[in-house]
Amino acid sequence: MKSTPTEPLSKESLPKESIVIVWFKRDLRIHDHEPLTTAASLQNKGIKVLPLYVVEPDYWQLPDSSARHWRFISQSLAELNQALLSLGQGLWVEHSTVISVLQKLAAHFNIVGLYSHQESGNLWTYQRDKDVTIWCLKNKIKWHESEAYGVLRRFNDRDRWAYYWEKYMVREKSIAPVSLAKIESLKVYNDRPGFDLPALDLTVLERDENKHLQEGGRSRGSACFKSFLNERGKQYSFNMSSPLTAFRSCSRLSPHIAFGTLSLREIVQKLRKQAKTPHLEDSWKRSLRSFDSRLHWHCHFIQKLETEPLFETHNMLPVFDGLRENAFNEDYFEAWKSGNTGYPFIDACMRCLRHTGWLNFRMRAMLVSFSSYQLWLHWQRPAWHLAQCFTDYEPGIHYSQIQMQSGTTGINTLRIYNPVKQSQDQDPKGVFIKRWVPELSEYNDEYIHEPWTMPMAMQQQKGCIIGTSYPQPIVEHVAALREARAKFTAFKQHHPEFWQQAQALNAKHGSRKRKAKSKTKGTNRKIANTRIDIDQLSLFQPI
Ligand SMILES: Cc1cc2nc3c(=O)[nH]c(=O)nc-3n(C[C@H](O)[C@H](O)[C@H](O)COP(=O)(O)OP(=O)(O)OC[C@H]3O[C@@H](n4cnc5c(N)ncnc54)[C@H](O)[C@@H]3O)c2cc1C
Repeated sequence: MKSTPTEPLSKESLPKESIVIVWFKRDLRIHDHEPLTTAASLQNKGIKVLPLYVVEPDYWQLPDSSARHWRFISQSLAELNQALLSLGQGLWVEHSTVISVLQKLAAHFNIVGLYSHQESGNLWTYQRDKDVTIWCLKNKIKWHESEAYGVLRRFNDRDRWAYYWEKYMVREKSIAPVSLAKIESLKVYNDRPGFDLPALDLTVLERDENKHLQEGGRSRGSACFKSFLNERGKQYSFNMSSPLTAFRSCSRLSPHIAFGTLSLREIVQKLRKQAKTPHLEDSWKRSLRSFDSRLHWHCHFIQKLETEPLFETHNMLPVFDGLRENAFNEDYFEAWKSGNTGYPFIDACMRCLRHTGWLNFRMRAMLVSFSSYQLWLHWQRPAWHLAQCFTDYEPGIHYSQIQMQSGTTGINTLRIYNPVKQSQDQDPKGVFIKRWVPELSEYNDEYIHEPWTMPMAMQQQKGCIIGTSYPQPIVEHVAALREARAKFTAFKQHHPEFWQQAQALNAKHGSRKRKAKSKTKGTNRKIANTRIDIDQLSLFQPI
C-alpha cells in the first residue's frame, strides 16, 4: 500500500541515515585513536559517527577470559562513554555477536564504513575478524583497520621490524575529535539506553577480588603513568625483580596498555621526552632506558602471535609435540593453581596473583618454570589459568612468554628457576611469603624458605605442622629438575629435526637485537646469530 502524506512514516520507509561505525576493541580511549579521528573527519560530508562496543557472549565463555578482565573493561568503558558523551555521541553497547549487531545496524542505517584498530588477539578473535571481513565484503562495506601499535600485519621481514616499530612510535599522535554529531534515530532502532553493560556470569577467582585489583579507566592509567615517571620509576631497574619492591617500582601500566586506555605511542613519546630532561640522575636514566626497551618487547612478542596465531594452541616447535602432553598430573596442577605446592615462595606468588591480578615478570616466569619443569605440566592449561588471573592478559605476550618459559620455543636459553634460591634472593626475610601464606607467619628466616626442614617439635611450637597445616612439597625440586632435564635432552637426541626447526623459527620470529650489534655482515651475520641462539639450548641455567 502506498503511503499518503497524512499517514505517519513507518521506520522502514524512513530514508536511511548514513553512518560510519567506530568499533572499539582493545583501545578504550578517544586519545591517539586513529579510527575515531578518521571517522570523525567524515562528518563534514553529513556522515555521523557511531562509537560501538560489542560484548560477545562466546568470547566470555573462553578458558582465557575471566571476571577481572570484564571488571577492568567495564570500568574503562564507563570512562570512555563519558569522554564520548562530552563530544556529543556516547558509546553504543551491544551484547551479541558482532555479525548480528552489524546486521541489525545495517537494517536501519546506511553504513558507509567500519573503522577499528587491528587486533592481535587470541584465535577466537582472529576467527571472528575473518568472519567480519567476509560479512563486510558481502555487504560492500569497507573495513578500515589502523595499526594499534608497532605490530605489523602480513609482515615477514623480522630484520626490518625494529625500524618500522620506531617509525610508528615517533609518528605524530592522532588528535581526538572536537565533537561528534548525535544520532537521534538510534532511539528508534532500539528503545533502551545506549550505554548498558550486561551482567556476565564469569569465572571469579577470589571472593575478595575487588579489594586488590587494578582499576580500569583512562584517568587511572594516566595517574599511574604520572606517578611512575615522577616518582615510582626511579629505582625501576633495581627493584623490578623482587615482589617486595616491584609492585611499587614497576610502571603497573600493563592492563592499561592491554585494553588501550593509554596508547603505547603516547607512553613511548612521554617517556622519551622525560629522558631528555637536563641533569637527569643516573638511576633515572637507567630505569627509563630499561622501561623503553620493555615497551619494545611488548610489540616484539605480540608480533609473533600476529604472524603465527597457532602459537596459542600449538608448540612453537612442532618437534616438541608429545613432550609433556600425555603426562599431565591433575593433582600437581590443582596444587599449583591454588598455591598449595609446599614451596612457600611459589605458593605466595600464586596466591598473591589470585588476589591482586598482577605479578612482576620474574615471578610470572618462575611460576611457569615450576609448572613446566619441576611438575612437568604441558603449558596450555597453566596458560589459561594465568590468563584468567592476570588483569593485563595480552595473548601475544602471554603465549609467547609461556612457551619461552616452558622451553618449547627452541630459540631461547632454557631458564629454569630454583624456587628455593629465588625465595632466598628475592624475599630473604620471608616478608612476602608471610603476607600471602599466613600459615607460616611464625616461621623464622632460617626455615621460611624450606619449612619442611624445621624439626617437628619446633613445628608444633610454631603451630604449623608441615603436611597438616601447610603441605609437604609435592615434588622434591632438585630431583624433579634432574629428571626434567634428562627427559628434555633425550627428547632432543631422538628428534634430530629439532635443529632445523629451531633455526627456521629463529629466522622468522627471533629477536634481532644481538644481530644489530654484530659486526659480521650480510647473510653470514644471520647464520652466526642463529647459531648463537641455538648453542644456548644446551645450557640449562638454574636461575
Ligand atoms: C609467563 C608470562 C606471562 C606474561 N603474560 C603477560 C600478559 O598476559 N600481559 C602482559 O602485559 N604482560 C605479560 N607478561 C610480561 C610481563 O611480566 C608484564 O608485562 C609485566 O610484569 C607487567 O607489569 P608492568 O606494566 O608494571 O611492567 P613494566 O615492567 O613497567 O613494563 C612496561 C610494559 O612493557 C611491557 N612489558 C614488560 N615486560 C615485558 C615482557 N617481558 N615481554 C613483553 N612485554 C613486556 C608491558 O606492556 C608492560 O606493561 C608475561 C610474562 C611472563 C613471564
